[in-house]
Amino acid sequence: MSTRYEVARTDLDALLAEWGETRYRADQVWKGLYEARIPLDAITALPRALRERLAGALPEALTVALAATAADGLTSKWLWRARRDGTEIETVLMRTSQRATVCVSSQAGCAMGCTFCATGQAGLDRHLDTGEIVEQVVRAQHDCPQRVSNVVFMGMGEPLANYGPVWESVERFHGDLGMSARQITISTVGVVPGMRRLAQESLPVTLAVSLHAPDDALRDTLVPLNSRYPIADVLDAAAEVAGARGRRVSFEYAVIHGVNDRIDQAVALGRLLAAWPGAGGAHVNLIPLNPTTGFSGRAPTPGRVTAFAEAVRRPGVTVTIRRNRGVDIDAACGQLRTRARDEVTPGPASGTAPEPEAEPASEPEGRAVSVLAPRPARMSP
Ligand code: SAH
Ligand code: SF4
Repeated sequence: MSTRYEVARTDLDALLAEWGETRYRADQVWKGLYEARIPLDAITALPRALRERLAGALPEALTVALAATAADGLTSKWLWRARRDGTEIETVLMRTSQRATVCVSSQAGCAMGCTFCATGQAGLDRHLDTGEIVEQVVRAQHDCPQRVSNVVFMGMGEPLANYGPVWESVERFHGDLGMSARQITISTVGVVPGMRRLAQESLPVTLAVSLHAPDDALRDTLVPLNSRYPIADVLDAAAEVAGARGRRVSFEYAVIHGVNDRIDQAVALGRLLAAWPGAGGAHVNLIPLNPTTGFSGRAPTPGRVTAFAEAVRRPGVTVTIRRNRGVDIDAACGQLRTRARDEVTPGPASGTAPEPEAEPASEPEGRAVSVLAPRPARMSP
């Protein structure tokens, strides 16, 4: 059985034709789900009996295991349970006055094993299918007062390790939900073959490359995939993506106190990226590390992060420091799931912790992991 947001338009047409319904009904369903972006049972233009029959034939793929909204009212997070096998995945919604961004998971877990990442520490459960990816965005939209304008593949998983369903869902976001390709960001730890494939696609999606270190020796210790695709290869592939159809590329750098935040490392990073030949030049996003139970690192002080940013900027690289978001709801990669497993009774929660730091008026690209969650109880010793 297909699921509600997995089913292709042609299959929906065929199903409704089989039930003796007109094509007009299929149009109404599709427009309701993707243009109006409302739940099936809210498409009141359809007879109730038909809505019910469709709901039975095309169930949602995800049920809510946990939902939380931060005290700022602008960041929400869902922990979903997949109907098909109970695996858990996370989605985050981040709003500003200008945009609403949904951060989606592309896999349940991740096989890449980055040492500082909660998702990497837990390993891979399985790939998500197109319906499970699309549904995260649509279901977040159902609870969002603004129109969702941006999607970032920065939740659980490595999107380029699940290329087919990820790209199909990109096409659905663009074609059915009407999003601009540039507002869709795929973040990769550096899966070079996937990056090269991306460079060949016609939709100019934005690419984020998770770099985290200015040299291979250090990157090897943080990102195991670096031994297969070292920095030079990743930068080459990133330039290919940037060169193709003027796509935007950014470099993500999780700043970890005493590990990759020294000034000489900032100088090396600035030098490396100032020489990067990609069209449009390099843009770096610094993300102060979000502490996780399986990694003993912590975020540097804000002063150290600012000094690091200054040094990267000097040779002409643009740098943004990401703000804290969703501090009270663990709105970071893999963290809600980890908490749900660690704690006794997960249940719907709304923000009760102190107000997180204010978000700047304009956030270049919303991202769920741009949060710093100093929850002392969860920090490693
Ligand atoms: N697998 C992809 C996309 C998902 S991770 C990738 O790695 O790019 C999205 C981003 O979150 C990556 O830049 C990743 O490095 C970052 N991230 C993961 N764990 C983090 C943590 N504990 N603190 C800060 N950033 C983290
Ligand atoms: Fe996977 Fe990205 Fe986490 Fe690395 S940082 S383990 S690639 S989700």
